[in-house]
Amino acid sequence: MAPPRKRKFARSIQRREREGIAASRANESSKLCQQRQLADSERTAASRACETEDERYSRQAANAQRMTIARASETVEERCRRQAADAQRTATARASENTEERCRRQAAGAQRISNVRYEVWRQKENSAFQYSSNICYESDPLIAIGRMTLECNFCQALRWKGESPGMCCSNGKFRLHSLQAPPKPLYTLLTADYSDAVHFQDNVRKYNACFQMTSFGSTKEIREAGFMPTFKVQGQVYHRIGSLQPLRNEEPKFLQIYFVGDKDKQIEQRCRNISNTRPSIASQIQDMLHQHNSYVQGFKYAMEKMSPELKVVIYADKTPSGQHERR
Ligand SMILES: [Zn+2]
Repeated sequence: MAPPRKRKFARSIQRREREGIAASRANESSKLCQQRQLADSERTAASRACETEDERYSRQAANAQRMTIARASETVEERCRRQAADAQRTATARASENTEERCRRQAAGAQRISNVRYEVWRQKENSAFQYSSNICYESDPLIAIGRMTLECNFCQALRWKGESPGMCCSNGKFRLHSLQAPPKPLYTLLTADYSDAVHFQDNVRKYNACFQMTSFGSTKEIREAGFMPTFKVQGQVYHRIGSLQPLRNEEPKFLQIYFVGDKDKQIEQRCRNISNTRPSIASQIQDMLHQHNSYVQGFKYAMEKMSPELKVVIYADKTPSGQHERR
């Protein structure tokens, strides 16, 4: 490092150079000013274009360091002046930008934020596999998201603090009817603890499949190799209802079982189609659906009244008049 005398001398030269630059810029015409700024920005862009990644990091780190030192030593008045000048510069630049420039600036801003977020999350990747009791996970705001303690004033739904208000009911625009208790015996099967009820609760998806009326269909399914339980769907998704009666030499399935004449045969067929289901439970659910389910009743009625040649067509994209468009 230079001895104190030489440092002082160097600083005074720098100060005189700065004053000289400021004086010559004050006399500069606006055209000359623009030309100089353009040349400066071209020079900067050229030198940054050939910078290596390490050089960029060290330049940015040095800039940040310089800025931190300069800001730490500024007085309140200087800070206010700087912030006002910054705001003025931003306002001037934004006032003169056209729509395309504004879109570009906003997109660049969004991209920058998304890069920062991605980087923060990237550092977390697979970190759960390296759990350490020495890390205080509760103090990390990315991990500790708190509890669902915020309550919507309109529908009383609970949300986390990071979730936007109104995401539940659009600030009271939508009101859902409260859920009614399911009819018996479903209610008992869902809540009791005797053998059949416990079996039902443990195998509820199987019983659901036992009574499904349609099968899932799509234009194109993509399954991935190996043990991959999910699959992707391309194009249109629909529910296949098929014919109301089984085709020749085929076992009745889905909706067709509802139209098998004998009640015990229906139960036998359901339990044969879906393994590990109990006829005693299937029988109770079947009686309940015949009694309470409007679709089952509607189809039974249609079967009894219509001629064999009649076709039932359901337009899934038609909305019943006066109903919500997504119904
Ligand atoms: Zn709400």
